[in-house]
Amino acid sequence: MGMFDSVNFKIKCSECGNVIDDFQSKDGDCLLNTLEFWEVDNFYSSCPTCNKRIEFTLKKAVSERIRKTIYELRKSLTIDDYEKEEEKFEKFVKD
Ligand SMILES: [Zn+2]
Repeated sequence: MGMFDSVNFKIKCSECGNVIDDFQSKDGDCLLNTLEFWEVDNFYSSCPTCNKRIEFTLKKAVSERIRKTIYELRKSLTIDDYEKEEEKFEKFVKD
């Protein structure tokens, strides 16, 4: 049994240009399945090269508009519906 699912999404690191494609989410069944980003509200990864953490969270206004149960509606989500957060770790930060 896994602790997360993989998310089928890739983006270039804004810090170093490395392609990051190992996004994860805990919103699904966490059975190491591969999900599309629009199936989850939150997904994240860390750049293996520069250690920058990148996280996407579905915007609150959007999540209020779309209910998780309405699968077909979620399919129309684009990455612009997600808030992007990035954090550059200068030092080791505990979890
Ligand atoms: Zn990077």
